[in-house]
Amino acid sequence: MELKIDEVGFSYPSREVLKTISFEAGKGEVLGIIGQNGCGKTTLLKCINTSLKPTKGVITLDDKEILTLSKREIAKAMGFVMQTTNTTFPFTVYETVLMGRYAHKKTLSADESDEDTRIVFEAMRDTGILKFADRDIDELSGGERRRVMIARALVQEPDILLLDEPTLHLDINHQFDLMDLIRDLSRNRGLLVVIVTHDLIFAARYCDRIIAIENGVIAAIGTAKEVITVENMKKFFEIEVEITDDPRIGMSLTILNRYRQNDQNIDSEAEIQKLQELQKKLDSEKEN
Ligand code: ADP
Repeated sequence: MELKIDEVGFSYPSREVLKTISFEAGKGEVLGIIGQNGCGKTTLLKCINTSLKPTKGVITLDDKEILTLSKREIAKAMGFVMQTTNTTFPFTVYETVLMGRYAHKKTLSADESDEDTRIVFEAMRDTGILKFADRDIDELSGGERRRVMIARALVQEPDILLLDEPTLHLDINHQFDLMDLIRDLSRNRGLLVVIVTHDLIFAARYCDRIIAIENGVIAAIGTAKEVITVENMKKFFEIEVEITDDPRIGMSLTILNRYRQNDQNIDSEAEIQKLQELQKKLDSEKEN
């Protein structure tokens, strides 16, 4: 399985976010995507899972353009776990995971087969959520729920798992648990995992390769050692870091300082005037 992103660009109506992005990735790899807030990481994931259509360029999966694939084919090829999973439906964990099998069913009402139950069991076992099987999804913590969503993506039996900030809001031990899980899934099931993360330390520790996006292009791509360098961290994140080889954990990254000062150059009067104008516009829209 080969995912190829070929000169992909994406613009929202008001702004160009991705200019030209090209890379290839394959089976069994954990690929991290890093970059400052708003640089387009989530946008790129959404282009890969076809919820956004690139403004230019082509994305292929084994040489097939993904936009020509049906929704069902996409669901079988890739699982997507978004940042927020505000599920408010009253389903059990088991039912939520089972829903991921729908991509493999001809009709939504088809009874689940023994095969489905076995696949659901394996995904729940691998993500460590068997003990929650009969709990309502709404009753789980953020980290537990994230595991459920990963299990749900896994029962699609995808080749690719797309994860947007999977460790967000988890305490440090659960972050490790989740990243261990992701690496094991990639190794044991041969999944390509594309993971958007703001966490440089976890990216360095768990990703086989890292892509750094800046100003709509790939500013660096390679192993953690190649991408997470003192110069790159200064350039991409405006932070001063110290990087050392540590035989116990590979790379040790210490954040020493930030370069960026709070924005002192705001013209307060002009900004206040802009807000007043916006208020006037909103008021007049309300009246009409
Ligand atoms: P990241 O994941 O790197 O933080 P995103 O891909 O979410 O960044 O967003 C990239 C840029 O696109 C940001 O400036 C964001 O404000 C903008 N953006 C995101 N979604 C929309 C949208 N639906 N319409 C217009 N602009 C958007």
